[in-house]
Amino acid sequence: MKKSLKGIILTFCALIVLMGLSYSTYAEETSTKEQVNKKLYIAVIIDDFGNQMAGTDAIANLPIPLTGAVIPGMPYAKEDAEKLHAAGKEIILHVPLEPINGKPNWLGPKGITTGMGVDKVKTTLESAMEEIPYALGMNNHMGSRAMQNKTIVGALMNFAKEKGFYFVDSKTCKNDVALALANEKQITYLERDVFLDNTPTTEYVIGQLQEALKVAQKKGYAIVIGHVGPQKGPHTSAALKAMIPKLQAQNVEFVTVSTLINNLRAQ
Ligand SMILES: [Zn+2]
Repeated sequence: MKKSLKGIILTFCALIVLMGLSYSTYAEETSTKEQVNKKLYIAVIIDDFGNQMAGTDAIANLPIPLTGAVIPGMPYAKEDAEKLHAAGKEIILHVPLEPINGKPNWLGPKGITTGMGVDKVKTTLESAMEEIPYALGMNNHMGSRAMQNKTIVGALMNFAKEKGFYFVDSKTCKNDVALALANEKQITYLERDVFLDNTPTTEYVIGQLQEALKVAQKKGYAIVIGHVGPQKGPHTSAALKAMIPKLQAQNVEFVTVSTLINNLRAQ
């Protein structure tokens, strides 16, 4: 009797262990499946619109949601912004900010320099909005000097707050104060993960898009920045065109920056 009771208890224990094992196998399989099926988001930002430069039409015609950054004050800022908006793309202000090295004329007439006061920064940004009224956020064009200046970056963040903008830091210098001031003023702040086209060849841009996939596989998303222009535009648009279906086949969903922000908030 005692023996059979012991037997029953042992069998019962064995059953529990087996059930536990099969549950943990099931849980592992499910989590692996979830990982495999998990959407990876890539937000493509294309900088330097505003001059009808090479790659502008090709980027506007890409069959994915993306974000175009238009430089206010450039001769075709309004036209490029309208073209992108008509093509269903998201638009942000590509705010021209003073670099440490570089010519002042690279900034154009609506450039922001460290000699400006906060009021001048504000009126300059307001006039940018008149040209590019569809903007939902902003990022920096150059800015290695201005992005280290608390007065200038503070004025940018105040403007972002007033307009409900997000801020994408292109990360053109190491010591910029954007993250600290965005946190202080509670602005949605994101950083560029990968520059697509520092070397202007199609092969290089394809390699950088594969890098972006690796980043997205690690953290769930990647923010990449490419450019229009005579050197980079044709390669960046050609590489994107070739890689879009390949990345989509690997579970990548291309999103605008606002969609990325909404998706991250919903997680
Ligand atoms: Zn730029």
